Amino acid sequence: SLTEAVTLANGLKMPKVGLGVYKMENDEEVINAVKSALDVGYRHIDTASFYDNEEGVGKAIKESSIPRDELFVTTKVWNDEQGYEETLQAFERSLKKLELDYLDLYLIHWPVPGKFKDTWKALEKLYQDGKLKAIGVCNFMEHHLEELLEDAVEKPMVNQVEFHPELYQKDLADYCYQKGIQLEAWAPLGRGRYFDAAILKQLAVKYDKTPAQIILRWHLQHDVVIIPKSSNKERQKENADLFDFDMNDDEMKKIDALHKNERIGKHPDEFD
Ligand code: NAD
Repeated sequence: SLTEAVTLANGLKMPKVGLGVYKMENDEEVINAVKSALDVGYRHIDTASFYDNEEGVGKAIKESSIPRDELFVTTKVWNDEQGYEETLQAFERSLKKLELDYLDLYLIHWPVPGKFKDTWKALEKLYQDGKLKAIGVCNFMEHHLEELLEDAVEKPMVNQVEFHPELYQKDLADYCYQKGIQLEAWAPLGRGRYFDAAILKQLAVKYDKTPAQIILRWHLQHDVVIIPKSSNKERQKENADLFDFDMNDDEMKKIDALHKNERIGKHPDEFD
């Protein structure tokens, strides 16, 4: 169910399925989407200062009157907010927009060269001050993590990266697993670009599920946290109805084989 969680390196529970809200640009859309997700039973919301919708997320949470400690809220520090002092300020801005007094997870959105280490120091400070429950990164490849770990006091608890069958980053997943860093997938559905792949359709028939559910179950069986985006209540339900079937190793390998090393988003060394 939607309360199923992974346990992060510091003991914090993180629900395995959350709602992503990227590109929900007007207030009404984001408020309605978050309200309907909370109604369906989602307790984990993934936003970012870059998405410019933290206020809407905050409003929907407030109006839901769900106890704060039952929710898991993530936001991210954007590229032009990085640096030590800048990040401390960006955090306060996000918290205010979200109308929260702490965050569950704060992430560095992209590994801005020359800055992400100072940004990390700010996250460590916020963590030590008890203003958030966990800290992590996004879009870090192994070399970025190695660089960060050189003088980090706290290890990132989460790495959120583009991850879906056509971009099955197995080496990165293994590396994170070995370091105790929870992998989280963005664009877990590959933005719906290849739902008609034969293997997905076959397994959908076999398990009486949709190709979207087959993909999302594939993530869960690889121990990856997912944040599929949808504003539509029926799809939100569909994307959470993943806990009543198990694919076997052979089927998992067939989905793994969809890997093409093709990104939808930017390469972490080439973003701007
Ligand atoms: P996604 O893979 O979640 O795909 C979303 C698309 O699929 C939407 O167009 C939606 O309408 C459609 N969809 C959703 N459920 C469906 C279903 N059951 N059947 C058919 N179509 C369905 O892509 P995403 O939104 O890019 O990624 C999810 C979240 O990840 C974002 O909302 C955001 O929170 C996060 N994200 C993070 C980063 C980062 O750099 N850290 C980058 C991009 C996205």
